[in-house]
Amino acid sequence: VQGRNPTPGHEAIVSAFRTAGFDSCHAYDFLRQLVAAAPHRLSGSPGAGSAMRATAQMLRDIGCDVVRVESLLVPRWERGSFETATLLLPRGRKERLNICALGGSVATPKGGLTAGLIEVHTFEELERRRAEAKGKVVFFNRPMDPTVLHTFSAYGDAADQRSSGAIHAARAGAVGALVRSVTTALDDVPHTGAMHYADGEPEVPAAAVSTLGAARLSTLLRSSPDLRLTLRLSCRSLPDAPSGNVIGQITGSKFPNEVIVVRGHLDAWDKGHGAHDDASGCVQAVEVLRLFRELGIRPKRTVRAVMFMNEENGSRGGKAYAAAPERRGEEHVALIESDRGGFAPRGFSVEGDSALLWRVRRWQPLFEELGAGSFVSGYSGTDVEPTVKQGAAGFGLMVDFQRYFDYHHSANDTIDKVHPRELEAGAILEALLCYLISEEGL
Ligand SMILES: [Zn+2]
Repeated sequence: VQGRNPTPGHEAIVSAFRTAGFDSCHAYDFLRQLVAAAPHRLSGSPGAGSAMRATAQMLRDIGCDVVRVESLLVPRWERGSFETATLLLPRGRKERLNICALGGSVATPKGGLTAGLIEVHTFEELERRRAEAKGKVVFFNRPMDPTVLHTFSAYGDAADQRSSGAIHAARAGAVGALVRSVTTALDDVPHTGAMHYADGEPEVPAAAVSTLGAARLSTLLRSSPDLRLTLRLSCRSLPDAPSGNVIGQITGSKFPNEVIVVRGHLDAWDKGHGAHDDASGCVQAVEVLRLFRELGIRPKRTVRAVMFMNEENGSRGGKAYAAAPERRGEEHVALIESDRGGFAPRGFSVEGDSALLWRVRRWQPLFEELGAGSFVSGYSGTDVEPTVKQGAAGFGLMVDFQRYFDYHHSANDTIDKVHPRELEAGAILEALLCYLISEEGL
């Protein structure tokens, strides 16, 4: 392995990034601007357009060499004006559940659908009990495993209920799917997220219920197994809409065609403001370039901020970026994804050839000075994946994500949940990684 020791003198850069970053915590100002300009910005919505204009303006304001939008078409889905769930209990009692439609769901029939419920925890259990499921709404109630330290793993193990619960429900002859919110929080706030249907198969409406609502429903079903639910959803899918990835860069002085991407995704689920998911990643990318500008650093390789569109319900932005004609003649050295919330950073996941992890660990002492020297082998992220598959190195900003899924895809994902210093620390870390890759290569 070459270059086990970083070039001497980088300690001064660490110190300069740290001072320039924490002195103003400018990432948080960008965050404020973005969520004020576009609090709701699901792909194809008017808010997504506002978010594109707002971030392009930020990139111009900090003095990027190039600011442009690369166009693409995105799927478009709207929540509509109402979404309700009412439990019909014995002796004419009624109770409301806090629910929200899952992204991509079809609407219920006009006036809603009313049906009994069957509670299951796995697709296998549903398969075993499919005779009972016919004509009912399937209630998927498997929680995120609280004993798993890595919350993204726990999320991954539970999210199949949300993403494909409606497919399994329809195959069992059910008329709808109600999914326990995929969150670590125990509260009354439902969490949305992408779901999909199988081509050529029946499409049944799907909604998420809050975790407290799920607990309440489970209790009620034990005493009143015949209770019924009236579900009303007004969501709909519209034709694909024009949109784009927003790009700003500082062009490299020595190797302008060698590109290092630092990225966030601009689209966000519509229930909250997407402050953590992923306005944080976007404004950190802007802040990386601002730090280079403030310190007057002209990198050897091009450092490019990309605000990808449509990460949440289609990943069209990541695919379009990798395939765009603008990529011709460019060589992507590395892509850095920040999409685990704007929390205190710990280091990076590293994805690439087998020796890459060992090569980047030569920089570990510099990152340890910032309290975030952990480099582990692992997935970098959805948007960068198509370009990483073409041979670029992938990095994912790792943070303290114990609370991420409390807010994720819900009305709770608002700017008050983001701490200015923690957000800034992530940007400083990304700036340092961009700098080191730019100066030394990988
Ligand atoms: Zn995200």
